[in-house]
Amino acid sequence: MWILLFGLGLSANADEAAAKVTKSDSEWRKVLSKDEFHILRQKGTERAFTGKYWDSKAKGVYSCAGCGQELFSSDHKFRSGTGWPSFYKAITEQAVGRERDESLWMTRTEIVCSRCDGHLGHVFRDGPPPTGERFCVNGTALDFKPPGASQ
Ligand code: FE
Repeated sequence: MWILLFGLGLSANADEAAAKVTKSDSEWRKVLSKDEFHILRQKGTERAFTGKYWDSKAKGVYSCAGCGQELFSSDHKFRSGTGWPSFYKAITEQAVGRERDESLWMTRTEIVCSRCDGHLGHVFRDGPPPTGERFCVNGTALDFKPPGASQ
């Protein structure tokens, strides 16, 4: 019997992790600041060196400012010199989705929160080892929590 219960517990957790957060624009406007809405829901970009976290070296986890899903760890943050918080990988493969972006006469790879589809920034192939990738993220799209902080 306990094996069955354990199995049910696992599948419930898996469902929770996969559960999408979907809201209308007017619902998002109620829970996000004007800047957060512009970045996350309208694919905006904050000006370099003006957002949160680009210069932070604090240890902790960066979550989605929209839905709270954990996205990046300070362990993978590096100094890119771009004026945006930059990471060489996401906290898990599943947390950050990728979309082809052909706006502004360029082909780039947009990165989004896999849970709420919020726009985070772009990923480029000029990052440091071990991945060679550079996740260039709008600080406005993130919420930082030091270790041990409650969710
Ligand atoms: Fe999200």
